[in-house]
Amino acid sequence: MKLRLTEEETAFREELRTFFTTKVPEEYRAAIALGKHVGKDGIVHTQQILNAAGLAVPNWPVEWGGRDWTPLQRHIWHEEMQLACVPPPLAFNATMIGPVIANFGSQQLKERFLPATANLDIWWCQGFSEPNAGSDLASLTTRAVRDGDDWIVNGQKTWTTLGQYADWIFCLVRTDPEAERKQKGISMLLFPMDSPGVTIRPIELIDGGFEVNEVFFSDVRVPGDLLVGEENAGWSYAKFLLGNERVGVAPVAATKRALAGVKQHAEETGALADPVLAARIVELENELLALDLTALRVVAHSADGKPHPASSVLKLKGTELQQAVSELAVDVAGPLSLSTGSDTVPEWAALAAPTYLNLRKASIYGGSNEIQRQIIAGTILGL
Ligand SMILES: Cc1cc2nc3c(=O)[nH]c(=O)nc-3n(C[C@H](O)[C@H](O)[C@H](O)COP(=O)(O)OP(=O)(O)OC[C@H]3O[C@@H](n4cnc5c(N)ncnc54)[C@H](O)[C@@H]3O)c2cc1C
Repeated sequence: MKLRLTEEETAFREELRTFFTTKVPEEYRAAIALGKHVGKDGIVHTQQILNAAGLAVPNWPVEWGGRDWTPLQRHIWHEEMQLACVPPPLAFNATMIGPVIANFGSQQLKERFLPATANLDIWWCQGFSEPNAGSDLASLTTRAVRDGDDWIVNGQKTWTTLGQYADWIFCLVRTDPEAERKQKGISMLLFPMDSPGVTIRPIELIDGGFEVNEVFFSDVRVPGDLLVGEENAGWSYAKFLLGNERVGVAPVAATKRALAGVKQHAEETGALADPVLAARIVELENELLALDLTALRVVAHSADGKPHPASSVLKLKGTELQQAVSELAVDVAGPLSLSTGSDTVPEWAALAAPTYLNLRKASIYGGSNEIQRQIIAGTILGL
């Protein structure tokens, strides 16, 4: 495998680095560097800056704002964005529903939604999981029944991330309960979150934050032309979307940046003098390097816009390392990580414990790590 960048690729990297570090407001980048949130406005504003420069949705077809980049260029774009602490384009828009509409939607859906989705004029949320349909997603029971040209939707979704900000939801619904396989009776519908009959209820997470929700549908009327692709073919669109989601949830460069920060704090506090802690840092650095190479391998072998099955390795290992670095940060902060509301405790130390707690989610969402192990066993190892 060729690992050295060509002159053009190096220039491409430099160009992106300059853009990200000079055009994206410093206040957002500083917040991300500390592991803080930039809020809805920060995410929207950043995506609009990126979109205006053709940097928000490079993975889309060129016709809809994509760039005809090589997988390696896309990888560099992603990496530089993370290294510069740029709030990334909203995944629900950029890597989930956008590519699905571009690949499977009608011309009318494409024209109506793709420009607004790229520019984050519409904030999407993902309505897939239900109380008894997470890993076993095909068991979902939210029903959509025909009423003339419309659909009437009833049911419940859960864990709907940032649904409180969302304008629209892309939703999996059961349209044929009689289908011989449960995967065959599912469709994908799009509808506004302020449709009559949609109720949203926040769920508080272990770190005290509110980023996920329960969403209830009671006789929600959805016009027939908001069906994506074919009726009862939603499962294949969902699989396409979930493959893309896995590639996006292994933030290798961001984890490297977080580890470099922890190392620096360990040096400042004197914790680095402990050989056991120093060895943990070195081990994580090596594991991240190995994951970086795996990411390049996935990039090199993804074909026709479809992720390589090794994307499951990225998801699994990427989230394990992300969690390990957050744990290390708590150990370096020591008792300071338990402080709340103190002016004398450095911000990084005060954020260590909430970040550690928040990142427990990473091994669950985007397909739990146990499920990734099964995919790896079946599709890569052939077990
Ligand atoms: C923070 C967060 C945000 C999320 N955001 C969204 C969102 O925006 N939209 C959305 O639709 N969903 C979202 N999800 C849902 C997420 O995709 C599901 O939580 C996930 O698929 C796991 O499903 P579950 O929670 O029903 O757990 P279950 O499937 O009930 O799993 C429970 C445990 O059993 C294990 N398990 C289950 N089946 C198997 C098996 N066959 N073999 C081995 N082990 C197994 C799991 O790995 C897990 O450890 C989010 C979840 C979280 C935590």
